[in-house]
Amino acid sequence: MPATLSRSRSHPQGSTFVNGHSSSGDVEAIFGSNTFGLAEMKSRLPKAVYKRLMATIEKGEPFDETVADAVALAMKEWAVERGATHYTHWFQPLTGRTAEKHDSFITPNAGGGAVAEFSGKALVQGEPDASSFPGGGLRATFEARGYTAYDPTSPAFLVEHNGSATLCIPTAFASWTGEALDHKIPLLRSMEALNAQARRALDLFDEKVGRVYATCGSEQEFFLVDESFYLDRPDLVTAGRTLIGAAPPRGQEMDDHYFGSIPERVMAFMNAVETELYRLGVPVSTRHNEVAPGQYEFAPIFENANIAADHQQLMMMTLQRMAPRFGLACLLHEKPFAGVNGSGKHVNWSMSTDTGLNLLEPGDTPHSNTLFLFFCAAVIQAVHTHQDLLRASIATAANDHRLGANEAPPAIISIFLGDQLTDVFEQILDAGTATESKSSGLLGLGSPVLPTLPRHAGDRNRTSPFAFTGNKFEFRAVGSSQSVSFPLVVLNTIAAEAISDMVDRMEAKMGKKSSKKALMSAAQEVIAETIREHKAIVFNGDGYAQAWQDEAAERGLLNLKTTPEALGTLTDEKNVAVFERFGVLSERELESRKEILIEQYATTINIEAATTGTMLRTLVLPAAIRYLGELGEASGAIDGMGLDASGTRDTAGRVVTEVNALTKALKGLDKALEAAHKAKDEAAAMESKVVPAMAKARTSCDEIEKAVPADLWPMPTYREMLFIK
Ligand code: ADP
Ligand code: MG
Repeated sequence: MPATLSRSRSHPQGSTFVNGHSSSGDVEAIFGSNTFGLAEMKSRLPKAVYKRLMATIEKGEPFDETVADAVALAMKEWAVERGATHYTHWFQPLTGRTAEKHDSFITPNAGGGAVAEFSGKALVQGEPDASSFPGGGLRATFEARGYTAYDPTSPAFLVEHNGSATLCIPTAFASWTGEALDHKIPLLRSMEALNAQARRALDLFDEKVGRVYATCGSEQEFFLVDESFYLDRPDLVTAGRTLIGAAPPRGQEMDDHYFGSIPERVMAFMNAVETELYRLGVPVSTRHNEVAPGQYEFAPIFENANIAADHQQLMMMTLQRMAPRFGLACLLHEKPFAGVNGSGKHVNWSMSTDTGLNLLEPGDTPHSNTLFLFFCAAVIQAVHTHQDLLRASIATAANDHRLGANEAPPAIISIFLGDQLTDVFEQILDAGTATESKSSGLLGLGSPVLPTLPRHAGDRNRTSPFAFTGNKFEFRAVGSSQSVSFPLVVLNTIAAEAISDMVDRMEAKMGKKSSKKALMSAAQEVIAETIREHKAIVFNGDGYAQAWQDEAAERGLLNLKTTPEALGTLTDEKNVAVFERFGVLSERELESRKEILIEQYATTINIEAATTGTMLRTLVLPAAIRYLGELGEASGAIDGMGLDASGTRDTAGRVVTEVNALTKALKGLDKALEAAHKAKDEAAAMESKVVPAMAKARTSCDEIEKAVPADLWPMPTYREMLFIK
């Protein structure tokens, strides 16, 4: 029986159908209950130990290893009380996902019994057999040693599964030479760099703070499809996206899904995910339908960027882990379906002080907020100087389907500032200083019963890859399946550089003068210089328009359209220099990252091409040929009845044409793959030869899909996957 007929929508199992939280009181009770957070630490640790640990967590002081045993003991007791049998060093290798190797707490003792053990040493350092994680030349397989190191600044947490639980300890992952093999190490280093440079600036402005840290809130888009459909699609299972599939008669044209009411089963899933994330201390706050049918979004409240990055991984992990309980599969891929919107992950980023000051908060009168203008100008300089790095930080095979595809920002990096700020900066350019901030005013709605609304100082611009949105920048070009760490690393590092440069220039201007007046006039001059130098990156218009492509070229902005092109810039001299100067990545570490990312690109396309080939040969062509067999029999029978079989033969003719075209395209795909494997630059050849060959094969395939009878079509269609909820 063809798979189509056996398919039925699977229903969530009653027993695992988790009811969502019912009131915000519950949320308070469960929030963070599965984390070994500050409150737990405080109540379980000796006072002196707690104080030492807090010095590391809050002030960034070195971790005092003499407290490790005490911390380990308290952590283990907490975890075992909650049913944990194992612990794992949880880390983020350069696969972009998380890795864990579970160790049991149980150690057999001489008396034939067993005791739960977990020493400070086991907490602080782990030694996973690291040879099968991407090392990018930093570690050959024969020198497989890698270490994980406890990150005390991110809380340990419990993951429960079927009655047992595992204690997960966030860790950093390095080679035995001390080189970073993960996302956390450069992120922490970049936050340190930003802290140091931002504090130099704040010192100069006589603003007393202890620390500055990057903040991040990332909005996660994803698709949900019925799990039975997912399992019947080899492409979804192996590549995370549909490699073939004709457009359904109805897509997202009706604009009726966005912010629509959330379907029942999806709602149950979202409630369960939220509850789980609350337990893990992840502050999810928003959920809604996204633009495409079957697409949704979750957004948390922003946090310290290191913790936000860990929480982002937990969010992706939890979405994928829990979906099957509801008979769903969660697709994190940037472009699971052609022809409808893809998924991104808006990374909202700012800088905050430990005194609670958001350095990108303009207030009501940005023109007179010199501190804000200083930091905002620094971001403008950073983004203009390092467009290539930002572009490279989001370059993946999957994201190539979005960028520039009229649904996501273009591959050109630019900044949207909005009316009010643009006006302030224009005043500065014209007159050296700004004297007013355009007020946004109130919005009357034309009916006395409706309230008058305060209007935002600027409209939104969905087409900008990097937009100022009130009191933070929003990096919108980030892909949905990506770790947010590398984009954050780039932002922190390039911001540190620009701030450092602006502070240097201010210091040079001020010389020995230290009066408030000298300070303000130096600041104004430096802000004006910076804007003058870097204003080409500011663009408030329509980023989707062809006109912008031309204008951007005139402005000298980069347009790195594909992943191989973008990644190629990673090790340019200026990029090596900025990472080295701020101690974020050494040249070797950067080289290795580039190598890994390029290899991941080539591997992804290779897997997609191979899967496409197999599906076309083993599913699509057989279905088409079976259909031709039926048509042949039918036309014979029609002839036998002395009737006109020309319509049947015409139909067969059209199918034959597509079958021949598909067969030819398949040969082309094989040839392209072979050529790419032999090419000196495999990734570039994958992009220029294999990607178009896949597209060509898909075109014929999608035509065949439209012709073949539903009962012969061997896999779920777009209509089923997108609309059955
Ligand atoms: P939007 O402006 O996209 O409609 P929100 O204002 O709710 O939505 O913010 C989107 C995301 O930005 C949320 O995750 C929010 O926590 C985060 N965010 C808000 N302020 C900051 C900040 N200062 N730093 C980093 N992220 C922030
Ligand atoms: Mg947003």
